[in-house]
Amino acid sequence: MTTLERTLVVLKPDAVARGLVGRLIQRFEDAGLKITGVKMAQLDDDMTRKHYFDLEERFGKEIYDANARAMQRGPVIAMVIEGVEAVANVRRLVGGTYPNEAPPGTIRGDFAHQSKAYAMSLDKGVANLVHASGNVDEAKYEVALWFGEGEQFEYKTLAEAYTF
Ligand code: ADP
Repeated sequence: MTTLERTLVVLKPDAVARGLVGRLIQRFEDAGLKITGVKMAQLDDDMTRKHYFDLEERFGKEIYDANARAMQRGPVIAMVIEGVEAVANVRRLVGGTYPNEAPPGTIRGDFAHQSKAYAMSLDKGVANLVHASGNVDEAKYEVALWFGEGEQFEYKTLAEAYTF
């Protein structure tokens, strides 16, 4: 049985500053996915910690701090995206973490090229434009963290009669 899911996408400060918001949102809409919430936000330390709650544990303080600086460098656009197995489908469209390894056709492969080694040599977060929830549990946590009930919407798209 297939399942309709909601997942969190954040267009990071590098995507907003590069003027890629429209083109990146277009990728998700083109795939027939539905935006059910959207907003601009400036992250502070508290929200960064809640969003990347296990990043320091996974990668250490230096990488956490480098990413926190990158995420707070400017505003982000956060979205809730709904669709059939949306969590995995959105990750597929976004591509792997390191842009130099992400295949062409993915957002990170088409719009970025930075490597892990380069970012680490400069003590920077990997500039990979987009955050997308990693799995269904993470998506539930992240959607609830970023969006209140009143900030998510129900509506019909013209395409969904054929997709959902
Ligand atoms: P993803 O965003 O693909 O789910 P992770 O959750 O593993 O990847 O990492 C979160 C973010 O941390 C990545 O998107 C990337 O921007 C950054 N990052 C990951 N590894 C490194 C690293 N070695 N050095 C600097 N930044 C990193």
